[in-house]
Amino acid sequence: MTTETRLGEDDKLHEECGVFGVWKVPTAAAITALGLHALQHRGQEATGIVSFDGARFHQHRGMGLVGDNFGDAKVIDSLPGSVAIGHNRYATTGDTILRNVQPLYADFEFGGFAVAHNGNLTNAHVLRRALVRRGCLFQSTTDSEVFVHLIAISLYSTVVDRLIDALKQVVGAYSLVALSNEALMGVRDPLGVRPLILGRIGNEGTGGWVLASETCALDIVGADFVRDVEPGEIVVINDQGVHSIRPFGRARERFCVFEYIYFARPDSIVEGTPVYDARKRIGAMLAREAGVPADVVVPVPDSGVPAAMGYSVESGIPFELGIIRNHYVGRTFIEPTDHIRHLGVKLKHSANRPALEGKRVILVDDSIVRGTTSKKIVEMVRQAGAREVHMRISSPPTTHSCFYGIDTPERGKLLAAKHTVEEMAELIGADSLAFISLDGLYQALGQPNRDPAAPHYCDACFTGDYPIILPDQADNADKQLSLLAANH
Ligand code: AMP
Repeated sequence: MTTETRLGEDDKLHEECGVFGVWKVPTAAAITALGLHALQHRGQEATGIVSFDGARFHQHRGMGLVGDNFGDAKVIDSLPGSVAIGHNRYATTGDTILRNVQPLYADFEFGGFAVAHNGNLTNAHVLRRALVRRGCLFQSTTDSEVFVHLIAISLYSTVVDRLIDALKQVVGAYSLVALSNEALMGVRDPLGVRPLILGRIGNEGTGGWVLASETCALDIVGADFVRDVEPGEIVVINDQGVHSIRPFGRARERFCVFEYIYFARPDSIVEGTPVYDARKRIGAMLAREAGVPADVVVPVPDSGVPAAMGYSVESGIPFELGIIRNHYVGRTFIEPTDHIRHLGVKLKHSANRPALEGKRVILVDDSIVRGTTSKKIVEMVRQAGAREVHMRISSPPTTHSCFYGIDTPERGKLLAAKHTVEEMAELIGADSLAFISLDGLYQALGQPNRDPAAPHYCDACFTGDYPIILPDQADNADKQLSLLAANH
């Protein structure tokens, strides 16, 4: 893609992404393209790969899906080398223009450096201001570029020390993969909000390693799961193997609970738990907490399917595919305006009339954000002849925006931020509406009830309990000051 394309920015606040990196395999770029393809659900707007052939770095980025950009053998051939990193982006911070598409790459005195980032830095605007004052020239409007400049101005000599120096100044939720002339690096933020895993590829002894946002990206390239990169850990992979560094003190981890509910692919294993099983258990808990007499349990596909299966088994009410999803349209959220998003729901779902006509229907979906999807689906199911429509949601009400890497609109657009459950039921046109409780969710995930003093997950979208400082708080924090310190 040679021309810059500017898409409309809506009310989106934050960035959803997938990252992948591979060390020492033949045709690393092809392996990376496959990994990114498996991570396509984490970002569909743009994609990129940077490879290193031992002497030079090579890069290709484009708007759109992985298959559209890396399906062509000529493109893969232009990315030689046995190491590579890649990125899928669903742009939410920064305009969607080609220069914002990751991995970002820069030439330094120590060699090349490429970085791909999943998450959001909540003090990026403060750091950017300070860096610009110091004379740094930003090429993009993405958060992630602050890493590149912080590494550039660091007074440390090795890449890893410069990376640590940079990481100590950023605040936020992030998983990173980075590539230098000497090493592939992976980092998770100190609370481990976003996922990152380590895998082994090729025969034992051949030195092949993979970093990826989710285990589904290992399966597609025939890699074996080794372990999660731990919260606050930096893994440095080179010809000597995997070396682990922990530059931050130990913090209590706060993995994003929404990865279990919606974001991760159901065939991924997250923190030792298969996402599919977790979703079925959440559905079963929902049936126990908010059962209602009905004839069929119908998922809103695809996101509601495992929870609806769990609900059906627990309640004994038959599971039916009462809504059929057209797989040739992207996620509803991809659409840039409310109007198109509205139409998008119809493009994406249609009612399977024989499964619904004359029935009392329990509809199961994973979340209500703006309420657009639920309203359209309830209407569609009624038009198909359903006698009653009961909506059951496998997450608590989404009352707060995410600032840590899940795309949610500003708070004013969240239906649950302004309305009670009864009001929401009326607004979406359902006979009844219920959400899983927060404690029910924790229990379904194998945890004790939520401890408000030390919650196991980041659940800020349901509680407003934000574990990392927010962008407006970052203005007053002193973290950025080392940037301005005399030695710089
Ligand atoms: P809404 O129509 O705004 O209420 O959005 C709810 C629908 O969007 C549900 O069907 C969810 O599966 C889906 N959804 C929830 N969160 C996200 C997200 N961050 N990105 C894309 N889709 C989402």
